[in-house]
Amino acid sequence: MAKRAKTIRCPECGGNAVFQTRTDTVEYKGHTATVRVAGHWCRKCGEAVFEGDALEKRERAFLELRAKVEGVLSPRHVASIRERLSLSQRRAGELLGGGPRAFQKYESGGQQVSVPMANLLRLLEKDPSRLREIAKEMATGRLARSRVSALPVKGGRVVARPTTAAAITRRRAR
Ligand SMILES: [Zn+2]
Repeated sequence: MAKRAKTIRCPECGGNAVFQTRTDTVEYKGHTATVRVAGHWCRKCGEAVFEGDALEKRERAFLELRAKVEGVLSPRHVASIRERLSLSQRRAGELLGGGPRAFQKYESGGQQVSVPMANLLRLLEKDPSRLREIAKEMATGRLARSRVSALPVKGGRVVARPTTAAAITRRRAR
């Protein structure tokens, strides 16, 4: 880690800003949260200068607060659920939706998780074993289309599960 000056000149008032860890407050829509963060705190005007890890820590605290206020999952919560499901970010996006880059965005705070995705993740958090059903469904969804031609035909109609409705429509059109 780069060596930090113990005292710097405050960019706001020119006073002495001393490096120390303090409790800072982040705010979102009238709600506040506190975070312990290291930075240069001005003795004169109270302004703080943060860099690197401290900035990230403060940003994370803000995103956690925003998620709480908005009633959606925080970036850290999304990451913890995904890790509990033993999925890579890429695989999570493919299986649960959003595409291969979706979870990278959710977990970095670049994009807020949608309400449906948050609901899905909350359900999987309670019962991770159900992920297998999703994985299986995706695999058989591909199989179902190729299997439809082998299904029995009654009165000119293909008997099939509702999931293959698209395939039936195509067949009727012939
Ligand atoms: Zn100052």
